[in-house]
Amino acid sequence: MSALSVPVLHGVPVVPGVQYAPVIRPGRPPVVELADTEIAEPDRAAEAGRFRAAATAVADRLRARAAHATGAAAEVLAATATLAQDRAWIGAAEKRITAGAPAARAVTEAVDQFIDMFTKLGGLMAERVTDLRDIRDRVVAELAGLPEPGVPLPDTPSILCAPDLAPADTAGLDPDLIVGLATTLGGPTSHTAIIARQLGIPCVVAVSGLDAIGSGRMVLLDGTAGTVTADPDPSEAAAALDAARRSAEAARHWHGPGATGDGHAVAILANVADGAAARAARETPAEGIGLFRTELCFLNRDTEPTVEEQAAIYAQVLEAFSGGPKVVIRTLDAGSDKPLRFAGHPLDEANPALGVRGIRIAADNPGLLERQLDAVAAAAEKTNTEPWVMAPMIATADEAKRFAAQVRSRGLTPGVMIEIPAAALLAGAILDHVDFLSIGTNDLAQYTMAADRMSAELATLTDPWQPAVLALVEIAARAGAAVGKPVGVCGEAAADPLLACVLVGLGVTSLSAAAAAIPAVGARLSTVTLQQCRDAAQAVLATAGPGEARAAALGVLG
Ligand code: PEP
Ligand code: MG
Repeated sequence: MSALSVPVLHGVPVVPGVQYAPVIRPGRPPVVELADTEIAEPDRAAEAGRFRAAATAVADRLRARAAHATGAAAEVLAATATLAQDRAWIGAAEKRITAGAPAARAVTEAVDQFIDMFTKLGGLMAERVTDLRDIRDRVVAELAGLPEPGVPLPDTPSILCAPDLAPADTAGLDPDLIVGLATTLGGPTSHTAIIARQLGIPCVVAVSGLDAIGSGRMVLLDGTAGTVTADPDPSEAAAALDAARRSAEAARHWHGPGATGDGHAVAILANVADGAAARAARETPAEGIGLFRTELCFLNRDTEPTVEEQAAIYAQVLEAFSGGPKVVIRTLDAGSDKPLRFAGHPLDEANPALGVRGIRIAADNPGLLERQLDAVAAAAEKTNTEPWVMAPMIATADEAKRFAAQVRSRGLTPGVMIEIPAAALLAGAILDHVDFLSIGTNDLAQYTMAADRMSAELATLTDPWQPAVLALVEIAARAGAAVGKPVGVCGEAAADPLLACVLVGLGVTSLSAAAAAIPAVGARLSTVTLQQCRDAAQAVLATAGPGEARAAALGVLG
């Protein structure tokens, strides 16, 4: 859709889907002057009554929201409602009102007294402090006749726009009423993004200019393109909704295998973290596992799991896909944001993302990698499968050569991840040693753009649509094509249906994504030809940034 008559704001798409609805915004914590004045003796009973009514109103509203919510969200809201009527702080506030304090001051002082106490007690008690603050703000706002802070309960399905959202704001989101989410801050791995993904609410984060769109305005949110359009032409909005509905329908009916509309095969694989996820992936049209993140199995371990323990865990994943389709096991990618307590990470790294992580751990601790490869070989033998094994964070052809020798000596098939620009640039030299490449666009974006992938402020730089990142993808894919070896993508880029088509156009031979993303990716790819993918890829490479790149791809792929 064009909607050129109105400004289109660009952000980072997190959850696909299109919605057209009015904006609601969370209320801010109330700014209330707490007067030093005393309430006259005869008015104190009425002031206490006003306070009790305000606390009850807040509790009732929270309970109503709990009734709309399900699961953990319902529990959180019900617990907060109970806390809003907790006798301890209510009694403390009433005592202050009886002594002459105005209700708002009494609430603030009473709750603050409990916040102090809970903070000192620590542990579980300290975790209630955020809830107490939330209740304090809600009751004070009610007393002052101000809108309730936090996410209001809309009367009609609405799109929630906010600078960012706190856990308390997001706990009670009802996907039937909050049908879209957009934030000014936040990255693809922010709290908002995680909750939105869990709830399946279309979401765009890091939208610059969003703060100017006030409550009540109609917006068209496109969680696939990463755009928010204020006051669009209603007929264009209806057309966009219709197109989105049709693609969701197509995804439901897509059963694989992965291929473009004109029959160019592209394996569509699943990213998993354990046997349970692999079994769940087997229920989808996934043709195998493209990335088994083994380090995620051991994040809570103090000591290294034995070879036998590891083999049993890896065998579960291999078993889920035994009897044909390929499974790619990645060796431990420990370090940076995923430290393992038993991996012997240096404690004093100033910059862990550029430090000893992934394959680099093997330099000081070669036994760790050797034992993991022994475990993979044992699991392969036990399940009678032939897994591929790849190393994370490879920077040089020499590292690839050493790794390949270790893998081949166990009768396994070696590959490496392309996550560092150096490795992408010299992919040809690396392919002299290994049988396949898998491009990790999450880290490739981080290292290409010199921007922390966890940073909200830098989310536009770490957007996988950055043309520089895609130019490196093309180099690696071409190197693979030149020698007839597969080059897949297993970073988040492969989960974006539009970008997945562009990746195919750049020459990648497989796409690996979270199981939930697979049907939409496969369905989208089946609607375009290989030539369209190639044209889209070239159009994208000629752009100056992610927003323009998405528009260019949409222009070619429709
Ligand atoms: C990547 O970097 O794209 C990748 C798939 O690895 P991880 O996200 O586990 O770092
Ligand atoms: Mg990575």
